[in-house]
Amino acid sequence: MASDSPGKFIVFGAPDIQRSEIDEVIDSLQSGWLGTGPKVQRFENNFAAYRGVPNDRVAALNSCTAALHVSMLAAGITPGDEVITTAMTFCATVNAVIHAGGVPVPVDIEPDSLNIDPEQLESKITPRTRAIIPVHFAGRPCDMDRLCQIADKHELIVIEDCAHAIETEWRGRPVGTFGDFGCFSFYVTKNVTTGEGGMVIARSVEAIERIKILSLHGMTKDAWHRFGDQGYKHYQVVDAGFKYNMMDLQAAIGIHQLSRVEPAWERRREIWARYQEAFADAPVGTPSDPAADTRHGHHLYTLTIDADTCGLTRDEFLVRMQESGIGVGVHYQCLAVQPYYIEQFDWRRDDYPVASLFGDTTVSLPLTSRLTESEVNYIIDSTRAIVAS
Ligand SMILES: *Cc1c(COP(=O)(O)O)cnc(C)c1O
Repeated sequence: MASDSPGKFIVFGAPDIQRSEIDEVIDSLQSGWLGTGPKVQRFENNFAAYRGVPNDRVAALNSCTAALHVSMLAAGITPGDEVITTAMTFCATVNAVIHAGGVPVPVDIEPDSLNIDPEQLESKITPRTRAIIPVHFAGRPCDMDRLCQIADKHELIVIEDCAHAIETEWRGRPVGTFGDFGCFSFYVTKNVTTGEGGMVIARSVEAIERIKILSLHGMTKDAWHRFGDQGYKHYQVVDAGFKYNMMDLQAAIGIHQLSRVEPAWERRREIWARYQEAFADAPVGTPSDPAADTRHGHHLYTLTIDADTCGLTRDEFLVRMQESGIGVGVHYQCLAVQPYYIEQFDWRRDDYPVASLFGDTTVSLPLTSRLTESEVNYIIDSTRAIVAS
């Protein structure tokens, strides 16, 4: 009773782009204004409303990596400052620390939540520690009560990496609003996409103003205001800034993606629950169910493949899935196995046993709102057949 192949490759993380996004992009193209302008402002306003923060606490940027970088700078991270984060995250989280001159300090994860272990985090704090970056892995919130308590006690800045977590809440409050900064990604595979894109929420208006300057060459007025209909204004360069601004073309996609964020989340939640049920008696490791009084973003569905119980290695499983026409991902290998960090910081995988084991055995199944019932059935049947054979 195995489901038939849907006949075409199931692309991992394929975005759900609809007519409204396409029309809005065409409208931008026809308007003659492609760059940062009114649609970026509309997207920022809608995003602020969605996360329940004032309009003047958000800035749309061209990636979450940019958001993390300028957050570090606005937080005043200076060379030599230590910034603690999880060993189980995308490389961009620690690269942003390095770009700001900081020294990233990884911490192992909890086996259950797959998020940074608060006790181990506290033990890594030194007089040089300035900030922590909790990552809400797979969309599951970190324990923000505990982390904020540690940050308060040691006077640390909190920069939340919310790349997986636009819909996520901890005890009724959206993540990204606990820290001094919250950074979001609109990369193609993320829950809301603009192709490439990012957003920062900052606790203070001053921090957002600084971020807006840093992300547009260090200039005090953005181009829209310079060349708009309000008369010519000279800009001033007050910093050696970056080129991190979002375009109206990107916001055109984001506005409509964001308007469907909740139904898309519902659909992924359904698929996530289908997978949980389907694999409960399979010889694979399944993710923990969402914790009480939290809202899981359901960004990733991560299985673990143990060669002894599944009869094949994780890497063999990846190949078999791809051969079956199913795009799969690995989120992530432990950061301490990556050559650059080993060379620069002498990180050792054995210092992060939980993240290392997870990184060696994990595989992410497709989890996008675009998946049809027959595709979900096919993914389930293929997975079960591969691990049972
Ligand atoms: C995707 C991702 C990023 C980077 O986002 P970009 O928008 O691609 O720069 C950072 N952190 C995590 C955890 C991510 O998954």
